Amino acid sequence: MEKILEVNHLNKHYPVKKGLILQKEIGQVRAVNEVSFDLFRGETLGIIGESGCGKSTLIRMLIGLEKPTSGQIRFLGQPIENGMSASLRKQMQMVFQDPYSSLDPRMSVQRILEEPLRIHCKMSKQQKEQVILPLLGQVGLPREALKKYPHEFSGGQRQRIGIARALVLEPTLLLCDEPVSALDVSIQAQILNLFRDLQRQHELTLLFVSHDMSVIRYISDRVMVMYLGQIMEIATKKELFERPLHPYTQALMRAVPVPDPERRDQCAVLEGEIPSPIHAPKGCPFSTRCPYASEICRQQRPQMHRTGEGHLTACHRYSGEVEG
Ligand code: SF4
Repeated sequence: MEKILEVNHLNKHYPVKKGLILQKEIGQVRAVNEVSFDLFRGETLGIIGESGCGKSTLIRMLIGLEKPTSGQIRFLGQPIENGMSASLRKQMQMVFQDPYSSLDPRMSVQRILEEPLRIHCKMSKQQKEQVILPLLGQVGLPREALKKYPHEFSGGQRQRIGIARALVLEPTLLLCDEPVSALDVSIQAQILNLFRDLQRQHELTLLFVSHDMSVIRYISDRVMVMYLGQIMEIATKKELFERPLHPYTQALMRAVPVPDPERRDQCAVLEGEIPSPIHAPKGCPFSTRCPYASEICRQQRPQMHRTGEGHLTACHRYSGEVEG
């Protein structure tokens, strides 16, 4: 399968400074730490983790809103860690978390959707309409929506506008940063179904970030689990949900609410606080919350081990270093 995106040893570290004048550096926040993965054409890779796990920083580096501290990103075979050409930029678009703040309230829907075409393509008004009108129908909005402004729509409808804007340039890759988390649960399912339909119609590849395991389970082909800026586990959806191996993935799965009242005891809350990224553990990032943690876990960062077909797990238990 063709690799759309190749990420190798990607890091984003922010210096932590103290003092008003001298601004002495007293440490670093490793928001993204040695992250490597591939994304294949036509698939949906779901990225799951608690807030502060680095998933949004990762997306911001991919789209070029943040510069990596080190590491390589290749998109459609081209290195992009230092920026993208305009033609490559068109191929990667983003759907944002908040449909309320991501649309300019002073612009009509028509202007919002025409804006990317105005910037990237030379098109007549009629040509622009030929692109926009079918797209409006595909995201489930009527033609009359074009003359309206964002405040005249519900949250779900605004997200439909945001999705249409992202698709105007016919991108190859859509980066979706928590695109349903600001919506009511009843609307979330509609928008997730819309992503699936559009993916098929437009042959899209999706990188889909969420903190909600049920959303990730619904939308993903493969799943990457992140914690404190690092990948803990990556596997196909089937493999991950049938055979979660990393203790953090297992804890996330147990924390998903069970609708059956007789099985309430199976819904366990993940214990302990996520450590401050300024004082991240030296060895395994999950060692302060892991029931299997031993001395080596506290001292040595685990590498990714192959634990099945297309299944990688960063845990000393699978290198034979820890009993359990
Ligand atoms: Fe737990 Fe150790 Fe595995 Fe980290 S490496 S998840 S602390 S057993």
